[in-house]
Amino acid sequence: MEVTGRFAPSPSGRIHLGNILCCLLAWLSARKQGGRIVLRIEDLDTARCPMRYAEQMMEDLLWLGLDWDEGPGADGGHGPYFQSQRTELYQAALERIKALTYPCFCTRAELHAASAPHREDGQVIYSGKCRGLTPGEALERARTRPPALRLRVPDEEWSFQDGHMGAYREHLARDCGDFLLRRSDGMFAYQLAVVVDDAAMGVTEVVRGADLLDSTPRQLYLCHLLGLTPPTYCHLPLLLAPDGRRLSKRNADAGLDVLRDRMPASVLLGKLAMLAGLNPSGEPKAAWELVPDFDWEKVPRTDIRLPEKF
Ligand code: GLU
Repeated sequence: MEVTGRFAPSPSGRIHLGNILCCLLAWLSARKQGGRIVLRIEDLDTARCPMRYAEQMMEDLLWLGLDWDEGPGADGGHGPYFQSQRTELYQAALERIKALTYPCFCTRAELHAASAPHREDGQVIYSGKCRGLTPGEALERARTRPPALRLRVPDEEWSFQDGHMGAYREHLARDCGDFLLRRSDGMFAYQLAVVVDDAAMGVTEVVRGADLLDSTPRQLYLCHLLGLTPPTYCHLPLLLAPDGRRLSKRNADAGLDVLRDRMPASVLLGKLAMLAGLNPSGEPKAAWELVPDFDWEKVPRTDIRLPEKF
């Protein structure tokens, strides 16, 4: 079967080296297998992801030589390619598993209370507070506050073999808890949208940052409930700022607005590929020149720190 990889960025600003590394590896992995790439804009949060950022991002990807076979501007019959325009599909999926969901009225403050159980990385595990509301109680509460919708997770462990990071497992109830499918303001949750879209767009291989490794068991569980065939997953190490912190707007020199003025695309890709173990000499390389030697085995499994001067 032909491999279909994807770019699934959430353009909430100009892309930075971390986003580029993710797109580069997704592209190389698909191209090395003779596969194709779908571009989907993950702009569920429309306020944070205005169209102009998506347009700039597409222009940046093409400048880098990271092209896509299907997506905005290249209709392959699975559009629209903006999540903000796919609400009906998410609603339909939600309807199918509605019996396993329940309304949740917890406020942000309640969810993030110091007493709430937390995962090691600081994420809150939902306490299950609204799980036991009777339909009458839920109706009463809904008069004053629109509810979010949560999926009731089973007391089960879900595991999978990541194509790069190896075996990963999570106990859904203990490590994750009942998770959101729709927010109280009506916005569908990333977990639901990504599963629905990857399946609807024929994506067979998901390449993305290791910060999403712990979302994967939830997504596999959703695939199972919806009767969808899950893709394979390869999670790549995170690219960190020189001080070891996560890349953010503070690291302006890792943003493409600065980098595009400083160097041609081939120089940028050559350096980035070197950090990812794929271009030992660090010499300038066009994206397609990196395809023949691409191998996941060369890519580190631990976070990569950017040098002081990229
Ligand atoms: N849209 C997500 C992001 O930009 C990526 C989601 C995914 O790859 O599954 O972080």
